Amino acid sequence: MGDQRVGLGIDFHRLDPSRPLILGGVTIPHDQGLLGHSDADVLTHAICDALLGAAGLGDIGVHFPDSDKQYRGASSLGLLSQVVAKLRESDLAPRNIDATLIAERPKLAPHFDAMRDKLSPVLGLDPDRVGLKATTSEGMGALGRGEGMGAMAVALIGRDSPDPCT
Ligand code: MG
Repeated sequence: MGDQRVGLGIDFHRLDPSRPLILGGVTIPHDQGLLGHSDADVLTHAICDALLGAAGLGDIGVHFPDSDKQYRGASSLGLLSQVVAKLRESDLAPRNIDATLIAERPKLAPHFDAMRDKLSPVLGLDPDRVGLKATTSEGMGALGRGEGMGAMAVALIGRDSPDPCT
């Protein structure tokens, strides 16, 4: 099996009518987008945190602080690319991702293929190793009232080179 590690990432962002909605690097037609210092791509942020957590490298706020002007409006796919590069410095690479978006609307499933097409090359994974799902909060709580969106992700990572002992 070699050295394999699992990590968990969770993120939330508020919705705001002045912003575009960007999820998994894809701009999705909607009347609101997510508010944040970067492009506020909640899905990509959860994936970044899952990868960093698996590698024992802290979280996205440590590496890309929102006090740093260079990350203002930053593409979260670019941040993800930097996270994957940080893993590679330790000879670690993503093995697979599984993520769930939490949003009342719009329907997100029609956009999953486009999101996978954006995320998988950055992760260095085949698209079938990037699991994407969505759920609503059934109207309960802040997410259920449509005040924001959330995302949860798990990542499995492993050593880049195969272990000759296995
Ligand atoms: Mg975030």
